Amino acid sequence: MSNQDPIIQQLTEITGKGTVLFRKEDLIAYECDGYTIHKQPPRAVVFPSSTLEVSRIVKLLSAQNIPFIPRGAGTGLSGGATPLGGEVIISLVKMKRLLHVDLENRLAVVEPGYVNLKLTNSVASKGYYYAPDPSSQYACTIGGNVAENAGGAHCLKYGVTTNHVLGMELVLANGDIIEIGGAPDSPGYDLMGLLTGSEGTLAIVTKITVRILKNPEDKRTVLAYFNNVEDASYAVSDIIAAGIVPAALEMMDEVAIIGVEAGNYPVGHPEGLKALLLIEVDGIAAGIEPQIEEILEVCQKRNVTQVKVAENDQERARWWANRKTAFPAMGAISPDYLVQDGVIPRSRLPEVLEKIEAISSQSGLRIANVFHAGDGNLHPLILFDARKPGETELASQVGSDVLKVCADVGGSITGEHGVGIEKQHEMTFVFSDQELAAQTSIRDVFNPNNLLNPDKLFPKPSRCAEIRKAFSS
Ligand SMILES: Cc1cc2nc3c(=O)[nH]c(=O)nc-3n(C[C@H](O)[C@H](O)[C@H](O)COP(=O)(O)OP(=O)(O)OC[C@H]3O[C@@H](n4cnc5c(N)ncnc54)[C@H](O)[C@@H]3O)c2cc1C
Repeated sequence: MSNQDPIIQQLTEITGKGTVLFRKEDLIAYECDGYTIHKQPPRAVVFPSSTLEVSRIVKLLSAQNIPFIPRGAGTGLSGGATPLGGEVIISLVKMKRLLHVDLENRLAVVEPGYVNLKLTNSVASKGYYYAPDPSSQYACTIGGNVAENAGGAHCLKYGVTTNHVLGMELVLANGDIIEIGGAPDSPGYDLMGLLTGSEGTLAIVTKITVRILKNPEDKRTVLAYFNNVEDASYAVSDIIAAGIVPAALEMMDEVAIIGVEAGNYPVGHPEGLKALLLIEVDGIAAGIEPQIEEILEVCQKRNVTQVKVAENDQERARWWANRKTAFPAMGAISPDYLVQDGVIPRSRLPEVLEKIEAISSQSGLRIANVFHAGDGNLHPLILFDARKPGETELASQVGSDVLKVCADVGGSITGEHGVGIEKQHEMTFVFSDQELAAQTSIRDVFNPNNLLNPDKLFPKPSRCAEIRKAFSS
């Protein structure tokens, strides 16, 4: 697109000089998010600085029937911020202020482009933190977290983003500005629940009030090594069955461990290790030791080969850096990887991991499993080489097969990364046509012309037409 495109001038009139990208080379970075399988440049990228500017942009684009996509840091893993053809990206990264902190009422108000980790960093010295901690927290925005209902390692005990959002300001698809939430038990529909996780298809989030929590009095972290994934999987179920709710309960299998040890934050896990658990317990100091003892006992019963408790904050931080950088670390052992995000009932973990192993052997693609085991939220990382003809398509098929396994045991096709464009077809694994039609009819109320992040989240348009027919008949 060139600056001959009249929309570039009109957008610049709203946001100011130097705030609209339109040159081919500038648009490359916006061709996709962290789901790199599909790429398409946007028509332009505009950087508003205020809610009013977002509203004016939306009014301008909708009047001309031009589709648009809200975007945060672009760390999404399902193609939610990826253009499909002719969209203008509305990047919220300039709206990155921490507007207000109220420690007495334990809340903070942020603009959507505020980076997740900055919130914890800004209240840490006062003894507070923001609980949802996606592994991408050093880069992803709270607006993007709301849109994806992001989770993280410590969401097992404290809940995901939806449990921490208290209010929002939104720009609707027609440019109107509204506020939702705020008061406890607002009457009317639960729009906060509806908007959180709506993947940018219902409104643009321009301000967010979030809960902040007091730091736990104490925390302890355990690293446990196993000779097989079954023992590690059973240990996960046994820990929860013992009545312990760890703050985090993470698992990695052999391929994942090889990857993290080849990455930038190795911690010296033994070679040949088949599985490990990273378990963190927090709360009142007096209650921690008995829980740790019980966890160690469970691990012994499940044939743990080595188990250790972090000796200090430095060791704990090293273990977490090793775990939290697991996705990028796969780049050290494979030219490409596709992150999947299925959910299963925790008790089905051993059986599902076995089925994933069978899919891996059949396809010839290695799969590394690194995941939030306590939540049953799997992240199989499918390793492939995009330079080899057909391997990208094979990796996508393998991802879909894995999600089918998750759906078939009563799980779901996404725990935290969203549907985007990646899992549109897989929505049919978990929803009937009538159930999908109920959801798309809600989308149509908020986004009647389908200009706001169009053709995402639900099965492709041709299939949507069939679904609508099913709903109206
Ligand atoms: C290395 C790595 C590790 C990750 N680990 C985790 C993890 O542990 N847990 C987890 O949940 N996710 C994880 N993710 C995925 C990703 O970081 C999250 O989905 C995150 O919430 C995306 O935020 P973002 O600012 O990058 O949003 P983007 O990628 O820019 O956008 C994501 C979606 O949100 C929409 N959107 C963005 N901003 C707004 C807004 N203001 N209003 C309305 N819609 C908006 C976009 O249209 C898009 O559909 C990881 C990603 C990477 C690369």
